[in-house]
Amino acid sequence: MECIFCDQENTAKSIEHIVSEAFGNKSYVAQRGRVCDDCNNRFSKFEGTALSNSVFVMERARLGIATKKGKNAKGKVDNLEIAGHEEFEKNLITIKGLTDDNFIAFDPDTKTGKLYVKSFDKSEVAASKLLLKMALSSIFTSQRELFNKYDFTNLKRFLTNKDNADWPFMTSGYEIGKFQSIPRFTDKFNLGKVRCSLRYFEMDENTLLFMFTYGAVSMVINLLNRNLEWIESYSNSDSVSSLYPEHFRKKTVTEKRIVANGSKQ
Ligand SMILES: [Zn+2]
Repeated sequence: MECIFCDQENTAKSIEHIVSEAFGNKSYVAQRGRVCDDCNNRFSKFEGTALSNSVFVMERARLGIATKKGKNAKGKVDNLEIAGHEEFEKNLITIKGLTDDNFIAFDPDTKTGKLYVKSFDKSEVAASKLLLKMALSSIFTSQRELFNKYDFTNLKRFLTNKDNADWPFMTSGYEIGKFQSIPRFTDKFNLGKVRCSLRYFEMDENTLLFMFTYGAVSMVINLLNRNLEWIESYSNSDSVSSLYPEHFRKKTVTEKRIVANGSKQ
């Protein structure tokens, strides 16, 4: 069988979970051989980073999701050690290593403040790869027409390390159009039970958006290329959306400035 990421004929021994087991997914898997062992091994590296060193570990801890090995979720984000409850009770997160920097506008009189934890800790690239990986396996498994309709060469080159340029994505739950579920029927239902949804929206011929939602966390990425055009519509419509990796923000700001200067003349 051919691997959907590297196109190699293979007889894979492992079965790839389309959505990581650490998110609580047990049954949504790719057909054996559709993700070869080499790709699967490569993916497990960025998967670990994305799951344990980003906002995903906070959410896994908050939702009381057990790991593949039946342990509570644990990770590290920006010197903070984060752990879910040992007995998987929801909404109980242990955070070790908090300093004053983590509290914004703390008022000692009312003992009120905002707790600030970064969304990513050198895990942006890993998160972008995890999103792209889940998207392609899911589309291949559940929406074969969509898989055949688009050219995913850029995505495949990025995930097989043939092209390592960063790939932009946004943290946003804003729907710029009507997003539709990729998993169907039982898969959609089971993923819903662990607060996961995988959806797509065909924006234009160069923009096939994928939105992954896990509990209160949503991320959006274009599956076809690294273009930044769609980003602007998002940042204009959703004031709490953020673009990652952060260096892309300068680019969009510069582009806006060029447009602004150009229109003055
Ligand atoms: Zn492969």
